[in-house]
Amino acid sequence: MRKPPPISIAQLTSDGASLQEKSPPQSAADLPLGTPRLLSGLYVHIPFCFHKCHYCDFYSIVDHKDRQAAFVDRLVSDFHAAAQHNIGAIQTIFIGGGTPTLLAVGLWERLLRALHATFEIACDVEFTVEANPETVTAELLNVLTAGGVNRLSIGAQSFDPAALKMLERWHDPANVQRSVSLARAAGIENINLDLIFAIPGETLIDWAHDLDTALALHPDHLSCYGLMYEPNTPMTMRLKQGKLHRADDELEAQMYQHTIDRLAQAGFEQYEISNWSLPGRRCQHNLLYWHNADWWACGPGAAAHVNGWRWKNIPRLDAYIDGDALPEIQDVEHLDEDGRIGEALMLRLRLLDGIASSELDSLLNATASGPLRRASIDRNLENGLLEVCDDTIRMTNRGLLLADSIVLELL
Ligand code: SF4
Repeated sequence: MRKPPPISIAQLTSDGASLQEKSPPQSAADLPLGTPRLLSGLYVHIPFCFHKCHYCDFYSIVDHKDRQAAFVDRLVSDFHAAAQHNIGAIQTIFIGGGTPTLLAVGLWERLLRALHATFEIACDVEFTVEANPETVTAELLNVLTAGGVNRLSIGAQSFDPAALKMLERWHDPANVQRSVSLARAAGIENINLDLIFAIPGETLIDWAHDLDTALALHPDHLSCYGLMYEPNTPMTMRLKQGKLHRADDELEAQMYQHTIDRLAQAGFEQYEISNWSLPGRRCQHNLLYWHNADWWACGPGAAAHVNGWRWKNIPRLDAYIDGDALPEIQDVEHLDEDGRIGEALMLRLRLLDGIASSELDSLLNATASGPLRRASIDRNLENGLLEVCDDTIRMTNRGLLLADSIVLELL
């Protein structure tokens, strides 16, 4: 998802004073977030992986097992510092990475104990942990479920060894099925599988087979993304050097259309451009992102959004471990009213529920960019990329294929 353009924080502090005059923010404690607030979500980033997959630009480092304990010690102090900034029960927790399931089981016990001791957590919390299929064990799952984890998001990506090799993913596809069975046996009822399509060399038949293999495991939720070539990844370098060829746009569109049709046939509802769920299984944590709600972030490289402020903890493990209290931050942004509305429109139209006409009108009437945005929406309504349905504006099936360009115009 494209990040909104940064806006000068000097103009935007709530007390009217310039943050830059005071000094640049070193940590979230320096931001004018207001008094402790009720938060909706918590994201925790575990930065360790076996090795770096070639398409990945998430912050992660190769794990040598030597810094896991120091990292968890520091994470616990990060929890304590974060708890000073929120009150009320946290509704969703998402522990991602990296490869969270690489953490030693004893460290997971410590992490989960600290989480419960530090934060008030809603009794109906959605608590997700991301898992690599190679690292899921019955012992770990028992610790996770005892610690309140009730959703597992498994990075399957593909069931085709050639496609996994192209991505430089190191897992045996058979371990996806093993992980799902172990998770079900441990009592985890809500399981997501992440899949990637449009991998170089992949055909429509290959992708259809991947999708059918995933469905045969009876997941509750599927995230299906077309392969992204992020700047400076080894995959993008190979693309630029002509060592691989990306899937052409028509093939990628066919794969996406097949995903929409096949998952609808299997009883899944598409609720976001790249996300499908069985009824009642939408990912509540990701919905926070798309509804621009508030969430706090712990761990290096983790991004937060609270009361209109966005920031990211510095993505450096050593600096994180050496710190205390709240970690150092970067990429601090605060959108003005116009930017906030543009972002809200962009995020809400990614959701298949769309946006009610009355809400759309009030957003478009609030700032001077409204007429330009309305013209863009009207053009896409005429082109059949957006539609009005039950007094709601939303993407059409054809619009979903061009969703990124539609929502970017609204920024
Ligand atoms: S396992 Fe996930 S986070 Fe780690 S390098 Fe691979 S894609 Fe990135």
